[in-house]
Amino acid sequence: MTEEAGTRNFLSNPLVVQNYRLLEEIGVFKYIDKLNKEIMSCKNLLSGAVEIFNKITIDEILDAAVWKMSDRFLPSFIMFLWKPHQNKDDVIIKSYKNYKLIDMGFSIPSMAPFEPFFRKYPKPIAFDIFAFQVKDSVDAGILKNLEQLNPEIIIPILGPSGLYGIVMVGHKILAEGYGLQELFFLEQLMSFLSQAVQNHLHYERSVRDVKTGLYNHGYFMTRLGEEVARTRRDTATSSLMVMDVDKFKNFNDTYGHLAGDRVLESLAFTIKQAVRTGDIPSRFGGEEFTILLPNTPRQTAWLVAERLRTAVAAMKVPWEPPLPQVTISLGVVSFDNRTNAVPEEIIKRADEVLYQSKENGRNRTSVWGAGLLFRIQRGRQETA
Ligand code: GH3
Ligand code: MG
Ligand code: MG
Repeated sequence: MTEEAGTRNFLSNPLVVQNYRLLEEIGVFKYIDKLNKEIMSCKNLLSGAVEIFNKITIDEILDAAVWKMSDRFLPSFIMFLWKPHQNKDDVIIKSYKNYKLIDMGFSIPSMAPFEPFFRKYPKPIAFDIFAFQVKDSVDAGILKNLEQLNPEIIIPILGPSGLYGIVMVGHKILAEGYGLQELFFLEQLMSFLSQAVQNHLHYERSVRDVKTGLYNHGYFMTRLGEEVARTRRDTATSSLMVMDVDKFKNFNDTYGHLAGDRVLESLAFTIKQAVRTGDIPSRFGGEEFTILLPNTPRQTAWLVAERLRTAVAAMKVPWEPPLPQVTISLGVVSFDNRTNAVPEEIIKRADEVLYQSKENGRNRTSVWGAGLLFRIQRGRQETA
């Protein structure tokens, strides 16, 4: 039964009708009204939590929160300041007006100055009242920064590793200021948002390599296992590409490990640029990388490998003084439902052909089991 129907039943009870004046006098109906409103608000909050927790990407999580807030009260704007990497200082800003993304022309270089402030004030802040009360000059300076946006409410998103983000909400378009109930609603919604963001971060951290942002070894092995199983059931051919930086030990010895690290970061960037959605680029370990290419036959995988090899040989690494060019050697292996090999065997084959590339002079791609037909086709492509 809905609350409304429940209330109707209660009101039509003959005893209630008989004692209507008394009940009204002692405030029973008002109280029921208030409880019904609270139940509605809790339901709204609960459905908001479910929606937010069901989302996967940060953008989807933020969108869900914006929709939930805007449904409850249409604010003149909602802005998220968001720190995408816990170990870097960049800030992403997303502003919404009327449910839509807009550019409010606001930027800040770092969230660091806000961190101590919001540790001190972790609750939602009603801007006007709060700004009036703040006496500390550092805190007042922090608020001054945000004042230009004219926010009515500011809510930090805090978690165990500190400040993840800040949410600013403008005044209501169609009504007066925010009441206590609404502040409570916002606070609860933001705690769900913060939890969803933390879950997302923890998941990302568990599957990504910290240095390069590519997938890590564990995630790669899981996906390779899944892909091998899938090609066994299916008619698809998939490929695995492994690559290794040439003479990288010498490079490190000559230019230092920090320069070497910068090379690996640039290489990861070049790899990300070379792959399509659905491909899985990973750092296998050290200076070895893999790309799993679902639904990609050998010929195409070879083309991708060659394109990547050429891109790396032309890659500019930001470093002073400029570093010499680095190259990579690659090995490609394809598998389908006739391959009948476990993932470890597929990696072994890819390693074997990578070793061939090294043996044959480095900065080249070798393909596992490439027969005469493949070499003729490749020859045609090379001369085309
Ligand atoms: P080859 O062409 O045969 O691959 O020669 P190589 O010197 O690259 O091969 P080797 O496996 O002997 O050396 C790999 C080097 O990669 C050793 C190590 O110094 C370097 N390396 C591995 N991981 C990292 C890393 O995270 N950062 C840096 N800077 N260097 C790394
Ligand atoms: Mg190596
Ligand atoms: Mg190497």
